[in-house]
Amino acid sequence: MAADASQNGTAAKDNNNNNSNNTIHHHHNTIAIIGAGPAGLTLGNLLHKHAIPFTIFERRPRPASLDELTRQPSGFLDLHEESGLAALRACGGGELYEQFRAVTGECSQADRVYDHEGQLLHASGSGEVEGYGQGGRGGEFGEDRPEVSRAWLTKILLEALPADTIRWEHKLLSVSEVENSSSSSNNKLVALDFGPEHGRHSFPFVVGADGAWSRVRNLLTDVKPAYAGQQYISATARGLSSRNEQQQGQGQDRRSGLADLVGTGSMMALGQRNGVISHRNTVQDTAVMYIVVDAPGQEDWAESTGLSRMTTAEAGKVLVGEDGVFGKWGDALKRLVLAGCEDESVHGITEEGKVGSDKTGQKLLDVKPMYTLPVGHRWAHHPRATVIGDAAHLMGPWAGEGVNTAMQDALELAEAIVGAVRGSEGRDISEESLSPRVEKFELGMWERAAEKAGESERNGKLMFGSDHGGRALAAMFKSFGPPPQ
Ligand SMILES: Cc1cc2nc3c(=O)[nH]c(=O)nc-3n(C[C@H](O)[C@H](O)[C@H](O)COP(=O)(O)OP(=O)(O)OC[C@H]3O[C@@H](n4cnc5c(N)ncnc54)[C@H](O)[C@@H]3O)c2cc1C
Repeated sequence: MAADASQNGTAAKDNNNNNSNNTIHHHHNTIAIIGAGPAGLTLGNLLHKHAIPFTIFERRPRPASLDELTRQPSGFLDLHEESGLAALRACGGGELYEQFRAVTGECSQADRVYDHEGQLLHASGSGEVEGYGQGGRGGEFGEDRPEVSRAWLTKILLEALPADTIRWEHKLLSVSEVENSSSSSNNKLVALDFGPEHGRHSFPFVVGADGAWSRVRNLLTDVKPAYAGQQYISATARGLSSRNEQQQGQGQDRRSGLADLVGTGSMMALGQRNGVISHRNTVQDTAVMYIVVDAPGQEDWAESTGLSRMTTAEAGKVLVGEDGVFGKWGDALKRLVLAGCEDESVHGITEEGKVGSDKTGQKLLDVKPMYTLPVGHRWAHHPRATVIGDAAHLMGPWAGEGVNTAMQDALELAEAIVGAVRGSEGRDISEESLSPRVEKFELGMWERAAEKAGESERNGKLMFGSDHGGRALAAMFKSFGPPPQ
């Protein structure tokens, strides 16, 4: 294998810019992965398993405590057999997969659908039948689609990697190409700029797993995500069942009955083109919610309505107030939104990991516009760089496929890389052996992702394209019929 300049403590110079400010650390036989999200971490695990050298660069700091992360409620992702589950199985053989299965009971595979007035239109899945917190088989489609919290998925994938394979607090600023001064061939390297503190590093092959606003993607295409016409607010209601026990029989307390409302798994209340979507989480007995607001053409909706400057509790009152987005919704659903917003204000953790905001002591509303890349987005193959996951095919969450597609991308790209290494018979990974394999991988990824993104777009129209999204979704679920015995 060729020597890795940075590992030898030396820095080579970029042939084009031979001055000290432009020093580039060349890494001749290492693959760079940008982003430690599900796509990047899965790819890292798969390369690690095959002893292929790689480094992950992540802009965020390393989580202070992974155990603490899992003790906080976080949203859920249901993993599918052919994609997310297949990738996890491939990562670490039995052990990693067993670890994963052990933590999938925090949210059941049950589903509930309501209209905006709070009328239950559809209920299915194991939790509905067997009781609170059941994992295991029995999701909406009769398939095994275990729900895992984002926190657990991160912890399991991260802990399986050697610590020195991830460089935290390395925000990629830009990507360019430089001559490969040590190679007799004309092959170039991809140079990554991490700013004055961390410098520039070049690699023979770079994988952008850096999410919606990928910098690596800039090397491949000018296409950028577009605003999808919706905003989503994150809020978590806590201590749900104790509220029921303590407060039932004491008159109509405004927080009682919420545990029964959300059920044991996923809950979707849809109507008037808006939605309240929750996952029941046994961690702190919570309902982790995405509150979805229709705001076509109003990318700056949070600022223009003033909601972005309010604490979550203040914003909750506006949202369910008479003139608010949810003002005409049923009482139980309004109480759920209020409870989530009030609790989030006090207990919610900001992106910087702080409880509440510095100014008010309470957390400001966490509201974000939703973006997507065009369905079927492709680019001209590049021999030294590719993108996977949201960086390649950012889609709405309405088919539950974003993370699954991302993990399948990692699985198939790893297979291409492993094939190239084997094909090189012990020599360095060469562009000649890697590039055609990556090109073939991209064709497959584009096709898979276009199908899933199309499904997400169709589901989004069904759920939010009319005033009666709840009814439309319930009818779709019912049309699938009962799961096979
Ligand atoms: C509200 C909502 C609900 C969702 N629900 C579901 C669901 O139920 N099921 C499902 O399958 N999917 C869901 N998704 C989609 C899912 O979250 C994504 O598809 C998935 O996280 C993609 O993984 P990724 O690794 O490609 O990207 P990300 O998870 O975005 O990870 C990218 C990583 O790259 C890092 N990064 C970014 N820029 C840089 C940089 N310049 N330098 C260094 N590092 C960088 C980021 O910090 C991050 O760690 C949902 C998404 C949203 C917004």
